Amino acid sequence: MLPNLRRPLRAVLSASETRRPAVTWRWLTAFAFCVLLVQSASSLDAQVPTPASVLGHAVGADFEMASWDEMLGFFRALDEASEYMELLQVGHTSYGRPWYAAVISTPENLSTLEDIRDVSLRLAHPEGLDDEAARTLAAGGKAVVHIDGGMHSTEIANAQHTMQLAYDLLSTVDEPWTRDVLENVVLMLWPSLNPDGVQLVSEWYGDNVGTPFEVAPMPWLYQKYIGHDNNRDAYMLNAVETRVIVRTWREWEPQIIHTHHQSSPFPTRIWLPPFAEPVSSRAPALVSRTINSLGMAMAQALEEHGQVGATHMDFFDAWYPGYSDYMPIFQNIAAYWTETALYRYATPRFYTVADFPDYRAGLRPEALYASPWQGGWWRVGDAVAYMVTASKAVLDYAAKYRAQILFNRYRSGADQASYFRENPPYAYLVPRDQGDPVAAVELLRRLAFLGIPIHSLDRALTFGDRTYPEGTWVIRTDHEFGETARVLLEVQEYPDLREFPDGPPSQPYDVAGWTLSALMDVAVVEVREPLSNEARAAMSPLSANVPSWQDLSGVQDVAGGVSAIDARGDNAPVDASPFDTPRDMGFDTHPVAAGVVPPPGRLQGSGSRLALDPDQNNAFRAVNRAWRTGGSVAFRPATEGAPARYLVDVSGRDRLVSDLALQAEATSESGDPVMRPRVGLYRPWAASMDEGWTRWVLERFEFEFQSVRDTDFQAGRLGDRYDVLILPSERPASLRDGHDRGTVPDRYAGGMGAAGLRALDEFVRQGGRLIALNASSDLVIDALGLPVENVLADAHRTEFFSTGSLMEVGVDTAHPLMAGERDNAVVFFDRSPAFELTDEEVGVVLASYPEAGSPLVSGYLLGEERLHGRAAAVVVPHGEGAVILFGFRPQWRGQTFGTFGMLFNALVAPLPAEPGSR
Ligand SMILES: [Zn+2]
Repeated sequence: MLPNLRRPLRAVLSASETRRPAVTWRWLTAFAFCVLLVQSASSLDAQVPTPASVLGHAVGADFEMASWDEMLGFFRALDEASEYMELLQVGHTSYGRPWYAAVISTPENLSTLEDIRDVSLRLAHPEGLDDEAARTLAAGGKAVVHIDGGMHSTEIANAQHTMQLAYDLLSTVDEPWTRDVLENVVLMLWPSLNPDGVQLVSEWYGDNVGTPFEVAPMPWLYQKYIGHDNNRDAYMLNAVETRVIVRTWREWEPQIIHTHHQSSPFPTRIWLPPFAEPVSSRAPALVSRTINSLGMAMAQALEEHGQVGATHMDFFDAWYPGYSDYMPIFQNIAAYWTETALYRYATPRFYTVADFPDYRAGLRPEALYASPWQGGWWRVGDAVAYMVTASKAVLDYAAKYRAQILFNRYRSGADQASYFRENPPYAYLVPRDQGDPVAAVELLRRLAFLGIPIHSLDRALTFGDRTYPEGTWVIRTDHEFGETARVLLEVQEYPDLREFPDGPPSQPYDVAGWTLSALMDVAVVEVREPLSNEARAAMSPLSANVPSWQDLSGVQDVAGGVSAIDARGDNAPVDASPFDTPRDMGFDTHPVAAGVVPPPGRLQGSGSRLALDPDQNNAFRAVNRAWRTGGSVAFRPATEGAPARYLVDVSGRDRLVSDLALQAEATSESGDPVMRPRVGLYRPWAASMDEGWTRWVLERFEFEFQSVRDTDFQAGRLGDRYDVLILPSERPASLRDGHDRGTVPDRYAGGMGAAGLRALDEFVRQGGRLIALNASSDLVIDALGLPVENVLADAHRTEFFSTGSLMEVGVDTAHPLMAGERDNAVVFFDRSPAFELTDEEVGVVLASYPEAGSPLVSGYLLGEERLHGRAAAVVVPHGEGAVILFGFRPQWRGQTFGTFGMLFNALVAPLPAEPGSR
């Protein structure tokens, strides 16, 4: 399986004009990625520099946080001084920073890295291996261990600890323990999985330390778009960072992946696996056991060092495969995270038992909390020290059990392949004939990038009682990554776990359901019958020639600072194809992903305009391109027998149709003219991930918009500047009040405020259009006095509960705001409101839950009757304008391709003359 991932060819050496000799290794595989190893001209005698000699302070010193630039300076100094380390450029960040990981091992291992990597890849892809051959390979291989400095950048010890860990290893290479570890292990040490965030947070903290705002929250996201959600993008691969990490994992196939986080459940000092319940029912058991063993090995090592207060299970479940630091378990990698205690940044804090919750105030040793922490000072240096001990325990484990770890990687993969040869689902079929064929390509390209092979049918084949034509895409499961496909495509049934018998449901730490076909509105058919040899023979694996990601990443180093990176952040190179949402190292750099292309664009009929079905998300790209290039746009509302269409008049329309793979008709019809709206998106100083995701989705679909700040609201006269305003999904109090005065520098304090809400009310009354996403609906209903009630507002968790789940709603497809939607759409429900119009004369229900039965498609729902007949989206007139309330998340984490169009229609579709009244 996956032959093109397996066997790199020899390295090509090239000289460099810099004073340091550089080695460029180009792996001339179909995968066509290459890495740049900057090898130091080091000598054995060189002194390894201490962190303090480079940074000017010890790692973990109170009030000190090294920036990414400073960290890189230290790692470069180590690289100069030690032949036990090489810096590897892995790619660029969202803001264009060059990004490095350190490879640490013996010089002998570093000189044969290609062979080591080859064994690692061979065992990761077991086709053609038997147990004996695998044992031989494992005996001769090295454990490849990924340890990183985290992705959540306000958890600052994560990144800082990597410098201490690197120094500890490189300064003791002659000591027996270190020598043993480095002979057996290749450590891939990532100083950070989010370099932009380390830079941003260090600058923010550096500006505030010693002032009254020393521990103030940073008023912007520490990842360009998605902030803290940056570890929840594992399968969707929307962020550049996620793609860099996943690509590197596929290049090396480490056996262990350890991501550091802060914070543990107070007052425990570090949280370690095993995870809390529920864990994924699809996680390979053998790998789960390894993770549990690693958790215990770390706890034991901490105890040996007198570092008390380690705990397990409590709080952090492992249900969601969206976590970057858990998702690889489905690929037979022991991937997990740990959570060390955190106060704020590098500021120390003193605690007494009086601060503890009652149930922990007795300091009673527990089975999985054997040495209760008794309080006292907690410093960033303590967190660094705990992390260093934990990381070393992992290296120790990997060195001791090296051959077993390598063999188990093979075993778990071989087990998956043989399981799915005997058990359903045997495959998933993705027909080319889809409402939005490009959405199917977006889904398949993501699976391919994760390492799942994609096939297509060479000829028509019958499965069950249906025949599928030639060209139908096939996702097979009979390989080592079969569970990865299944966990993403099957329906999730989140277990009904209660906090106590008959008590409220114990809620998932993240979300409960994510079935990709439902999220993305792509028809996917499960094959329940075994694949015959004839069927297998009629399936061809897809692949294409691709450019190297390095040839596409032309971004230069940038100086730090928010303004500097904001100024150039949007100039990152664009290499994604028009049917990829991501850009900058898009899926076109992966040979299998690049082999998945949509049916070519098609233009039928005659006439000067394009009639576009907004079921295709790319219809909105076409609309935006028309506006950008001086074309015009009109809208033809649905009539009996004729669904709604956007009519686009644009020069170069054939090119547009082919570039965007549009299924279009040419027409001479005319419709209601649509002017390009002036769109504003509220961007609060209480930084909002939903705002960031909205920004990401709008940019990807080429909408022009402006960020609207509190001062813009308070200045009033919003109608002079905007036609449409969007409020991201945040709690009403957060939107209205923002950060409390005195907790942040004054200019970041407060939210929209009473004045802002009055301005919003005036904006709508005077003809503006307001879109409230999910949680912000409550604020708008209240502030504008809308005749709408959220019927779930006071529902108790024992009666009604659902979070992060997929629900079916009936849609009024005749309404322009629901143009292109299907009669039964699937929406992402996330602690959402459900609406009732309280004045029969006012407002229109756009989507509603069924009158009976359960609307649950995937995830968890308690109390379905509370939803029966309620509205999921409404449009309500208000003065001359209108308010659109979404009781779900139409653009959640850039994943809900099936409902992006609802948000896009809300921005541009013309409303009936009396908006929202019937
Ligand atoms: Zn975290």
